[in-house]
Amino acid sequence: MSLTCVDCSSHFAELDAPIKCDSCSGAFHTKCAKLSNTEIKCLSLKNRSLKYFCSTCEQGLKELPELKLLIRKLLVEVEGLKNCPLQRPNDGVCNEFIINEINERNRRAANLICYNVIESDSNQSDVRIAHDRDQMITQLWQHIFKSFYKSLKAQENISW
Ligand SMILES: [Zn+2]
Ligand SMILES: [Zn+2]
Repeated sequence: MSLTCVDCSSHFAELDAPIKCDSCSGAFHTKCAKLSNTEIKCLSLKNRSLKYFCSTCEQGLKELPELKLLIRKLLVEVEGLKNCPLQRPNDGVCNEFIINEINERNRRAANLICYNVIESDSNQSDVRIAHDRDQMITQLWQHIFKSFYKSLKAQENISW
């Protein structure tokens, strides 16, 4: 039998059945496992309810609740970072940009682009606005009259 004790690294005698750790499956001499005779008897029962954990595994099990607590704390921190806008400056800038763009489009929704409008040289904004309005009305009427005249001409050319 090539099985050796995890604790002392020596082989098992024929009558010394190894005690196996229920976590890492490592084999131990009964004396190396430092178990009482009652514990050894309980562990050798077929339908045993007692479990044996070697000292390394037992240490790990003791640390498990601490690790669970640490993971929970970290998860809370991660969630906090996700919801904090200051931690995500790119998203903040992006949202602001989109909102500004929407507002700007709404503001210009009724805008009309007009070319060849002679600019007023007044430094009063209301005078400039009135000037631009007059210029646009004049141009629009000219355009309407030209179109109307063209369509009249076109009708004249049709032989009735
Ligand atoms: Zn041993
Ligand atoms: Zn173990």
